[in-house]
Amino acid sequence: MQGSIYTAFSDMIVEQMGMEQWNELIEQTDPPSQGIYTSGEQYLDSELINMVQALSIKTGIDVEPLIEKFGRYLFKKLYDTSPVDISNLNNLKSFLLVIDNLIHVEVKRLHPEAYLPTFEYETIDDNTLIMYYSSKRKLCHVSIGLIFGAADQFNETVLIEHPECMHHGASRCKLVINFKGHNE
Ligand SMILES: [Zn+2]
Repeated sequence: MQGSIYTAFSDMIVEQMGMEQWNELIEQTDPPSQGIYTSGEQYLDSELINMVQALSIKTGIDVEPLIEKFGRYLFKKLYDTSPVDISNLNNLKSFLLVIDNLIHVEVKRLHPEAYLPTFEYETIDDNTLIMYYSSKRKLCHVSIGLIFGAADQFNETVLIEHPECMHHGASRCKLVINFKGHNE
């Protein structure tokens, strides 16, 4: 996985739980990288998975909500370093609609070795968008967290349903996003 994911994860742990907790996680999971991450490099997926599992045991929070929480945090970091100028997008839906065919295309151009999930879209009505998530990594909960993070960015409220999931035998995850509009 792309190093920028790891630097964000490390930032989140250090900011929210302290350096000591980060060092403890590294000690516990003993990653090949020794926990030293550079945004442009690639690291083993298992390093992140192992740290999330260790953190889940430590905090008593289930893995899925933990991953979602991380996704929400990660959004801000990714948004701030977006390779595409997205400053003209002023609402969540228009942003979500350009992830697959604009933002990911550019990320892939800059980092050909990066493996990215793919999204397919289905518009139900003005307030409802379906995003079908496919990835060999099956990190749908990161995507859900990222969408909540994007909603924070645009100061909007969303509801997300996840009626079909790769973890439960579906070929792709179905995320039903219901836009509730701008926050007061
Ligand atoms: Zn899923």
